[in-house]
Amino acid sequence: MAQDSRAESPAQTDREAFLRANILSILYHELGHAVIDLEGLPVFGKEEDAADVASVLLVELLHSPEDALQIARASAEGYKGEDILRAKAGDEIALWGEHSPDMQRLYNLVCLHYGADPDGRAAFAEAFALPEERASLCEEAFDLAWDSWTPVFDAMQARTDGAPITLHTDRDGPIADLLAKEVALLNAAYAWPEPLAMHYERCEEVNAFYDADLRAVIFCVEYVDHLDSLYDVVN
Ligand SMILES: [Zn+2]
Repeated sequence: MAQDSRAESPAQTDREAFLRANILSILYHELGHAVIDLEGLPVFGKEEDAADVASVLLVELLHSPEDALQIARASAEGYKGEDILRAKAGDEIALWGEHSPDMQRLYNLVCLHYGADPDGRAAFAEAFALPEERASLCEEAFDLAWDSWTPVFDAMQARTDGAPITLHTDRDGPIADLLAKEVALLNAAYAWPEPLAMHYERCEEVNAFYDADLRAVIFCVEYVDHLDSLYDVVN
């Protein structure tokens, strides 16, 4: 597994790295929803797919290439794990769902991440068996995603009278620490048109979501527990 060069201690286990990567990837997805809502962006298609794209781009923008690769790999494995769990439970793929099916989210993520650096990330695309038919389109797909989202992120970066993200949690330990560090990183990079809260708390469900009424991203403790068990599904 790639060594995280910037943010974490080298003593991180594979399980911790998997957990961290999936938490960050999901967090950025929820922030994608928050950006769409608070910046009043038009959405010409499925918002869930747009949030997935935002997540891939935030990984690129906020992390070193080595770290981004590790995050993308673990997130793709996370989708694979979700699909394995679905099949084990005997559930059909929810084509009616708000989110794209997990394996499609996997390929979309792999395609965009690969498309950011096709020469450097060919092995990554191969590891997830991205067919050439799709791979040949990924650089263009990444460029389109980049050109669509980066003006928004650039404006958030340039904003001088903006508001920060505030973390609310009564928990401590490595996940609370990770979120605190992440919020600090995000606040150093971006300013929001209005205050955005982030809650890390028990919710009685396995979920993470953006609540537009509360202007808050809610990350449920139960979701972290689920991601932890997902590591065993794919390893
Ligand atoms: Zn979503």
